[in-house]
Amino acid sequence: MPLKIYNTLTGSVDELVPGGTRKEQVSDYPSVTIYSCGPTVYSFAHIGNFRTFVFNDFLRRHLKFRGFKVNHAMNITDVDDKTIAGARAEGISLEKYTARYTDIFMEDLKTLNIEPVEHLPKATDSIDSMIDIIKQLHDKGYLYEKEGSLYFSIAKFNGYGRMSRLDTREIKSGLRYDTDSYGKDDVRDFALWKAPKENEVSWETPYGRGRPGWHIECSAMIRKIFGTTIDIHTGGVDLIFPHHENEIAQSEAAYGETFVRHWIHVEHLLVNGSKMSKSLGNYYTLRDLLEKGYSPRSIRYLLISAHYRKQFNFTLEGITQADQALDRIDNLIVRLSDIKKEAAPTPELRKLADSMISGFTDAVDDDLNISRGLGVFFEFIHAVNTLISDDKLSRADIDAVVEALKKLDAVLGFIFIKDASKADRDEAWIESMIQERLQAKKVRNFARADEIRNLLTAQGIILEDTKDGTRWKLK
Ligand code: AMP
Ligand code: ZN
Repeated sequence: MPLKIYNTLTGSVDELVPGGTRKEQVSDYPSVTIYSCGPTVYSFAHIGNFRTFVFNDFLRRHLKFRGFKVNHAMNITDVDDKTIAGARAEGISLEKYTARYTDIFMEDLKTLNIEPVEHLPKATDSIDSMIDIIKQLHDKGYLYEKEGSLYFSIAKFNGYGRMSRLDTREIKSGLRYDTDSYGKDDVRDFALWKAPKENEVSWETPYGRGRPGWHIECSAMIRKIFGTTIDIHTGGVDLIFPHHENEIAQSEAAYGETFVRHWIHVEHLLVNGSKMSKSLGNYYTLRDLLEKGYSPRSIRYLLISAHYRKQFNFTLEGITQADQALDRIDNLIVRLSDIKKEAAPTPELRKLADSMISGFTDAVDDDLNISRGLGVFFEFIHAVNTLISDDKLSRADIDAVVEALKKLDAVLGFIFIKDASKADRDEAWIESMIQERLQAKKVRNFARADEIRNLLTAQGIILEDTKDGTRWKLK
């Protein structure tokens, strides 16, 4: 079955065809070139942003799982109104200011087990490519200048608004327009290059001094890194218009070739029915949630588990439910490790594992239907638990299950994730506490036994007393 994903540009669920020509085998395709709009590094990203970034990660992991090679870029927006204002308010350089929030963002990505991408360009490192776009547009007559700023003339570009399906009336009426401009001929036009302002960072170009507009960096970085048409471009749905529409217009006008084949947009994370956003103040950063004691693993689970084309409402209750789902996985792993029976592997289990992997693959191939994929996975967990309860599994079966979980985790990234906060927990110390608790119970010092249990619970370590002794797991 081919991998199909909804394409905002065509409005249909299209087969992914890297390079644009269909091949017999997945391994015959060139690397899938992907560009994801990255963060504006003026503050902490909120978990609405991370819904999109976790999705990008899920997408690239699934492509790799399916045998595609990937070549993925995500930009860091380190020059815009907000970063400039932030640096000024603190009286430090733009570079120093944005470096701080870039580092924080990178740490957060790691915490959420998001794989590093192949390219992480900063907007300010691509000024040369922006100037090239401006040159092309200038030579081809798409540019005009007003009060030192350079604008793209939408009226000259055929097909503007094709992806967002906004009609001219809607855009022209000012109902929807690009606010990233100072003064312009037509409300639809957007600034490619902004006139310099006093005490503001600016660059010299053959077309005058100034700084980039909002949209040009993505087109410039794509050109610089990939050179030509790319396979996939991702971002949140709020970027379809005007940001992505403008990227298409300036790139296709400048270079005369298709900009992107497949556009993939992630719906918003909501809070009480509104988009989670900085401006509404209804947001949590990742660190807010970690401070409240939620684990990165459950946050990753929660963000991945809703289909990317559906809005979903964020609640703390939702993270607790994610935690419970993860408990089911962890409990299975603990139960497996407790199997003592020695016997030949159970053929039934191998079949179950294979059909789980293929069911999951088919689900995710179908427009990344993660909800169905997780359904298949949890049915498998239930079936394996039943086999264990019926004493049908032996030690020889453990590997087959763990192997299947590892395969799946290459896509999900939340089964075997180690929480940074818990990774270096001292196992010897935990064991010694468990021994001391046993000793306390033997001498009927139940107060001390309870105290030890509570101490461990506070550290996120849960004890379970079984007929074979006490075992522990991380909360
Ligand atoms: P920004 O740092 O504002 O440029 O946003 C980074 C990414 O997060 C973009 O792809 C946005 O579309 C996306 N984004 C912003 N808010 C949300 C939200 N509430 N839910 C999902 N994605 C979002
Ligand atoms: Zn962008």
